[in-house]
Amino acid sequence: MSEWKESTRTKKFDKMELEKSFQEACQDKDFERFKKELGGEDAILMRYTSQLEDALEEKKHCENCQSLSACKNKVWGYRLTPQVQENQVEFSYDACPYERARAKETAYQNYLYLFEMPEEIKKASLKEVYLDDKKRIPIMTFFKDFLKNYEKGSSQKGLYLYGSFGSGKTYLIAALFNELAKKKIESAIVYFPELLRKLKTSFLDSNELFERVKKAPLLLLDDIGAENMTPWARDEILGSILQYRMQSHLPTFFTSNFDLEQLEKHLSLTTSGVDQVKARRIIERMKQLSIEQDLISTNRRN
Ligand code: ADP
Ligand code: MG
Repeated sequence: MSEWKESTRTKKFDKMELEKSFQEACQDKDFERFKKELGGEDAILMRYTSQLEDALEEKKHCENCQSLSACKNKVWGYRLTPQVQENQVEFSYDACPYERARAKETAYQNYLYLFEMPEEIKKASLKEVYLDDKKRIPIMTFFKDFLKNYEKGSSQKGLYLYGSFGSGKTYLIAALFNELAKKKIESAIVYFPELLRKLKTSFLDSNELFERVKKAPLLLLDDIGAENMTPWARDEILGSILQYRMQSHLPTFFTSNFDLEQLEKHLSLTTSGVDQVKARRIIERMKQLSIEQDLISTNRRN
């Protein structure tokens, strides 16, 4: 038998198979209805029987679905959706109404950049701050003024928030940033010890991360004092970040387990000896950028 004949035979056979499985699927009333809704000729649709069956199954899941967490589809929050285009059917994954609402509600989170921080702080919210602890009241008052003045565009100091481990320092400032993210203001929260480790081996000129940290409209340097200080980290990294932000009037926040006096001591004792003058210079810049405030409270970590 010639090759040509063989291939026509195979094609015919394939077509019969396609038709057969399509006819079988059409025995199902739901499939039949789905097919009608879609439009398009049988001769086209029959090439996609199993995908159409999948799409129908996903459609049924959606019809009985109450919430995003109950999603039974292959791609969570999305539905396989066919569309007839001239002589073919195209399939896409379309977001369901629950997923669209979720994306809208969390869109603000894209304005907060995190470096080595837990993702969950993107959900920190001022509305949920515990007020049973009176220690939080001056901080909340500061935030209220901060929000009001930020909208007016006046340049403001951030907070140097220090205190015991787990008292909620990071949470509080993240909640403030999230509030501003809802107004499309960008911010960054950077775990300071890891930033130093990351930058240790890089050239600072045109380093993307370093630029991002320096220029973030709002910045939190988290857990300052928990790092191993070197003169280079103190003067070239921390010093330059502070210098740039002072000159550009960019609000800057810090959290630490040390108060500023203890931090000064920590900054003066680097791996290569004692340098009180340089440590003092850094502390002076930090004082120009922020207001010192304590939050010494119970540990909220589980
Ligand atoms: P710190 O930075 O002072 O060490 P965190 O901000 O990390 O403390 O807070 C410790 C834990 O308590 C975190 O798991 C945080 O999510 C939780 N937490 C703190 N404040 C609140 C709050 N107001 N509402 C809900 N969780 C909070
Ligand atoms: Mg913290």
